[in-house]
Amino acid sequence: MLTVTRDALPLFRHAALLLDLDGTLVDIALTPEAVVVPPGLIDTLLKLRDLLDGAVAAVTGRAIDAADALLGDLPVALAAEHGGAIRFAPGAVVERPNLAPPPEAWYEHAEALHQAFPGTIMERKPRGFVLHFRLAPEAEPVIHEALTAMIAGSATFEMIPGRMICEVRPRGVDKGIAVETIMARAPFAGRSPVFIGDDITDEDGMRAARALGGAGFRVQDVFGDAAGVRAWLTDTASRGDWGTLP
Ligand SMILES: [Mg+2]
Repeated sequence: MLTVTRDALPLFRHAALLLDLDGTLVDIALTPEAVVVPPGLIDTLLKLRDLLDGAVAAVTGRAIDAADALLGDLPVALAAEHGGAIRFAPGAVVERPNLAPPPEAWYEHAEALHQAFPGTIMERKPRGFVLHFRLAPEAEPVIHEALTAMIAGSATFEMIPGRMICEVRPRGVDKGIAVETIMARAPFAGRSPVFIGDDITDEDGMRAARALGGAGFRVQDVFGDAAGVRAWLTDTASRGDWGTLP
């Protein structure tokens, strides 16, 4: 029999919340720009931020500007680009590990793939890119194969498949490292991380949170979808303690 092990939650007042955005806090839309922040989410996160003495972070694959467009400076810490760009406090400088961008030819190749498959979206980031094919699922095998060939032999980049996307990103950043980095600083240090995410890249964040004595939850296993996560967070914020996990 398949048993899903569910991590035990740390004491609420000793916890930190580290949350993925797309598919976790906000519903996935047909395009990244079409994502909307549902009513109530900002209020809920503000309450949680107060209750946890500021220990609320967003950990996303989006670029900083794209993440800010959704939540602004609400998360005390923001890890964007899977940790390739971290802002430890609102208004603070964005810190980036010293990693090179991909060759310009790779961006051009990705752009050509996007042009070849109407409906795909090319999301350019400072040190990588994502091809989205939610609106052109027939493009998946071609894109997957092309990007795999592109990064073959590269010691510095990797290709990560996600939910209706393929991403090329530098090695040396992942959401696990992002969680460890954020948890080393105030107001997170000394707390137990609770990480929630929905995609393959979030598994690094879950592992890191568990290794630090906290909990890692996959949205689909525990909450069903982003609406389920929001309902639980709203319940938690109104109780001032963990609401019952679904
Ligand atoms: Mg996600």
